[in-house]
Amino acid sequence: MSCSNSVCKLCRRENMKLFLKGDRCYSDKCAFERRPYPPGQHGQSRLKFSEFALQLREKQKAKRYYGLSEKQFHKYFEMADQSREITGNALLKFLELRLDNVIYTLGFANSRREARQLISHNHFLINGKRVNIPSVIVKKGDVIEVAQASKEVNKIQAAIQAVARRTIPSWLDANHAALKGTVKDVPQRDEVTIPVEESMIVEYYSR
Ligand code: SF4
Repeated sequence: MSCSNSVCKLCRRENMKLFLKGDRCYSDKCAFERRPYPPGQHGQSRLKFSEFALQLREKQKAKRYYGLSEKQFHKYFEMADQSREITGNALLKFLELRLDNVIYTLGFANSRREARQLISHNHFLINGKRVNIPSVIVKKGDVIEVAQASKEVNKIQAAIQAVARRTIPSWLDANHAALKGTVKDVPQRDEVTIPVEESMIVEYYSR
């Protein structure tokens, strides 16, 4: 059975895989793999978009990929805008370094959404201290691990079983046997795989 629910429609709408359905996203059941064009009657026709509409789409794409609300996403833009770095680069860095993204990327959850649930249920430690806030921004050198009492949690174990399908980026080091991961460095732009034009997001918010 193919996946055609509203979550998968977001991927087809944004014309990219947003990885919102866990293990299914890596299988041939992925709705985007089957029908890589926007949903609806006119989905397969080429649409012309205004500059504004394109900027809006890039922002929506990134927001949905990381599973954030408009308010949360805008907060990261403001933080990036105030940083000394190129705004678009800084924005992606903040998004990648959120704890929920890191837990998912390390392979301890099957989706960012699942990572948020697991974090809020106290299943993880950063540098030996329990943390239950998914929006925490991790730093270079931080060690993230599954809490001792949570090592047999089904969702975490299932995610680790499925992790072979994914590539863990070089800025993270994952030790699945020890249920532990380290932030080796902050991610550089070429290590962030989301296919998004971050400069268009910056233009969107700079109107
Ligand atoms: Fe659905 Fe995941 Fe495929 Fe997106 S990537 S269409 S959420 S299965």
